[in-house]
Amino acid sequence: MRKIAFIGLGNMGFPMAANLLRAGYDVSAYDISTATVERLAASGARGAASPRDAADGAEAIITMVPNGKVVCDLYLGADGLIAALPGRPLLIDCSTIAPETARSVAAAAASAGFAMIDAPVSGGVQRAAEGTLSFMVGGSAEALAAARELLERMGGFIVHAGGNGSGQAAKICNNMLAAVTMAGTAEVLELGLRNGLDPAVLSAIMQKSSGGNFFLDRWNPWPNVMPEAPASKGYAAGFQLSLMLKDLGLALDNARAHGAAVPLGALAQSLYAIRSKEEGAGASDFSCIQTLYSRGA
Ligand code: NAD
Repeated sequence: MRKIAFIGLGNMGFPMAANLLRAGYDVSAYDISTATVERLAASGARGAASPRDAADGAEAIITMVPNGKVVCDLYLGADGLIAALPGRPLLIDCSTIAPETARSVAAAAASAGFAMIDAPVSGGVQRAAEGTLSFMVGGSAEALAAARELLERMGGFIVHAGGNGSGQAAKICNNMLAAVTMAGTAEVLELGLRNGLDPAVLSAIMQKSSGGNFFLDRWNPWPNVMPEAPASKGYAAGFQLSLMLKDLGLALDNARAHGAAVPLGALAQSLYAIRSKEEGAGASDFSCIQTLYSRGA
């Protein structure tokens, strides 16, 4: 498989597509932002004028867009890829969307003769750039086998979670835990400061102790503890707070549908929602939850 269409070149999609280009794939790229398409074209992609144009002759189509509505429009809309394409490329949606939406798009794809997987990712922009993302895949083993070589160029850990929608189910569980863990990390960094501890020193202690976690290792929410973290760049995303709120909404809706108790997820959703009401916060990295704690009790 050499000819790939890549649709959605945002914080995550751009570096993922750039890794495919570096690996020698022939990438046709589309985004509603023409400036972004031009930027990737400068690295060797073919800039496409529409999703249909990007998909022309592609053996696989990868989508990495904000939400389920955009995924449905792209694949199922009046001018959508499933109805418009003469060939039957492998469809790979890497966006984070509801498991039931992933299942319904995959079912529509299957009835039109396409194989489709949901392959949401974890790891953030840093791992996207390194090509070491985690992919959680929902779909048939055969479709995953066909996609594996491509996913390996963008990720370091690829796991088959189950049938269509299972990748998304794993992703919403992971992201709810990430939201809770980031808020908890921010909470104790502020508590430590109020006890006279340097946040960098406290972070180093917790990294080697039972409170150690992914965010202390790679995404510290306190400014200037990690020079490359969003917190040290004015909370430039990274992973936008608005996207984390979307994922918490997906997780809470899903929990309600399954009768699962998620009190910590619900509390995290309230905290991020309060922070997002501040000017411009939705586009900031979700680690900006840190500043909510500086106000005190
Ligand atoms: P982003 O907002 O930076 O990028 C989304 C891109 O999609 C933008 O460039 C936008 O212009 C484009 N887009 C929107 N509508 C489109 C359409 N109709 N056709 C083509 N392009 C369209 O978001 P992101 O951070 O790259 O996240 C993308 C997806 O990955 C989301 O579902 C998000 O939840 C998920 N995700 C993000 C991260 C992260 O750390 N940023 C991590 C894991 C998963």
